[in-house]
Amino acid sequence: MIEKLSHLFVRTLRDDPVDAEVPSHRWLVRAGYIRRVAPGIYSWLPLGLKVLHKVEAIVREEMLAMGGQEVHFPALLPREPYEATNRWTDYGANLFRLKDRRGNDMLLGPTHEEIFTLTVKDLYNSYKDLPLTLFQIQTKYRDEARPRAGVLRGREFVMKDSYSFDIDDAGLDASYQAHRDAYVRIFDRLGLDYVIVAAMAGAMGGSASEEFLAVAPNGEDTFVRSPGGYAANVEAVRIAAPDPLSPDDAPEMRVVDTPGASSISAVVDLLNSSHPGAEPWSAGQMLKNLAFLVTHPDGTTEPLIVGLPGDRDVDAKRLEAAFEPSTVAPFTAEDFEKHPALKVGFIGPVDASGQAVLGEDSISGIRYVLDPRIVEGTHWVTGANVVDQHVTGVTVGRDFTGDGVLDVADVRDGDPAPDGSGPLQLERGIELGHIFQLGRRYAEALGLKVLDSNGKLVTVTMGSYGVGVSRAVAAVAEATSDDKGLCWPLELAPYQVQILATGKDATVFEEADRLAGELSEHGLDVLVDDRKASPGVKFADGEILGMPIIVVVGRGLAEGTVEVRNRATGERSEVAVAEAVTAVLELARA
Ligand code: ATP
Ligand code: MG
Repeated sequence: MIEKLSHLFVRTLRDDPVDAEVPSHRWLVRAGYIRRVAPGIYSWLPLGLKVLHKVEAIVREEMLAMGGQEVHFPALLPREPYEATNRWTDYGANLFRLKDRRGNDMLLGPTHEEIFTLTVKDLYNSYKDLPLTLFQIQTKYRDEARPRAGVLRGREFVMKDSYSFDIDDAGLDASYQAHRDAYVRIFDRLGLDYVIVAAMAGAMGGSASEEFLAVAPNGEDTFVRSPGGYAANVEAVRIAAPDPLSPDDAPEMRVVDTPGASSISAVVDLLNSSHPGAEPWSAGQMLKNLAFLVTHPDGTTEPLIVGLPGDRDVDAKRLEAAFEPSTVAPFTAEDFEKHPALKVGFIGPVDASGQAVLGEDSISGIRYVLDPRIVEGTHWVTGANVVDQHVTGVTVGRDFTGDGVLDVADVRDGDPAPDGSGPLQLERGIELGHIFQLGRRYAEALGLKVLDSNGKLVTVTMGSYGVGVSRAVAAVAEATSDDKGLCWPLELAPYQVQILATGKDATVFEEADRLAGELSEHGLDVLVDDRKASPGVKFADGEILGMPIIVVVGRGLAEGTVEVRNRATGERSEVAVAEAVTAVLELARA
């Protein structure tokens, strides 16, 4: 098909949108593909919509090929099913809630596990009906705390969500694997450089879960990988705990005065100058105790102390992910006032007399969770719960016991992979898709049972799988745009070819039209810049708009030539008019 730029509803913009932090956002807006309506809410203009539809088509084809059946569910949903699974509350501020005219609570679906589960329950009742995979490509709503980067993180966005229903665990494994394989094909076809990483299940609950991340320096997700093939979202990294030691080998506890030393480095310096040991003291020997307030979705709060090696910090994202849907914030001055036993800078699991202050059987009763490296038999320097005092030789299992493990310390470049596959490297990525084994949580909550082959009622096991379709458009733009504009791969470009008719001569416009007609007959989509504008404007717009093949019909025409450009590589060649179609087809079929 052929489109004329003089007719197309598009305006390229000279300036970056003020809120543009990343190239994809800047160029999608400047090239007139999308237009902001409100924070995180965008309109798709003709060029953008074409790309979105092409991504959708690829996703749809691969979902159908793996046996999924397409449906379309409403975005506007009643409260009750989400109440039954607790997500009306658990989703917190991210959920768009509203009331209908009768005062009934409604919501705009952030994801659709409940409604799919109920619909299958309505219609199916036997193991013979399974396995089943249903999918939709549909608009989702989430009132994101930080909508960002255009359609990369919207409050309204397009997702492909699918749900698998199986009679047993083996069936779920097979459905999960079939989705994983389909996702590999989808993201290969989108031409993205991506990794598959172990993920946290988050608010979804469930067990096995992996994310597909586009490798992108501007991505919001941090992931790690090792030379031996370990790959995980940083939220999902589980540190390998060292073997426990015998507490008998640990030194006695000793109280030391540490006036004014309320930071790890101050304690280390002070010990090295006043209590030098055989080896110099280091931050890694300190036990750092940080106070947090956990707020649960129902509004109740709970203090929490996190103990970790003094040379580590808490990673905010790992902490957030570990407590989702509850939220966690560092203690404020007010919180400390409410817990006078906790002395800022001097918090520790025991007091100067050796009495347990935190953890199991302690006097405070405050929950105390420990980094996996704080294993039994290890001894630490830590606060004495008295201002200006620390205790050395405080030994796990002998002097105190924590209330469990919390693995939320920062992960660093060079840390060993938990599976022994070498040093970890940290990289950034954009989450394109997520596959989860939900298990029976939703089916149980909503009563989805079928008769098995023995006539016994059994709860169905489910999987849930998402692809960020609108986000994928931005992810591809992020990966392919350059300092001049967008630059689409052939499979996703709104038009494969853009012809620039430059000059005032009528023959230029006639030749551009003729060429467009011929290319279109060969099955290519062609955009013709037929505007009355200067060559400079047309060249610049051609680069911003990002069609993969640009043909310049202009000055050379007098000598019987046109120029064919490869937008991605910048390669140009002057070809005879008669050769132009062949030259373009060669690029288009490359
Ligand atoms: P994120 O961690 O980025 O917030 P999520 O884990 O909440 O995403 P899922 O619930 O797994 O996302 O949703 C499935 C897919 O939908 C994600 O993999 C992502 O590609 C896409 N997606 C999620 N939230 C948004 C959003 N606000 N805007 C655009 N796409 C999104
Ligand atoms: Mg996710």
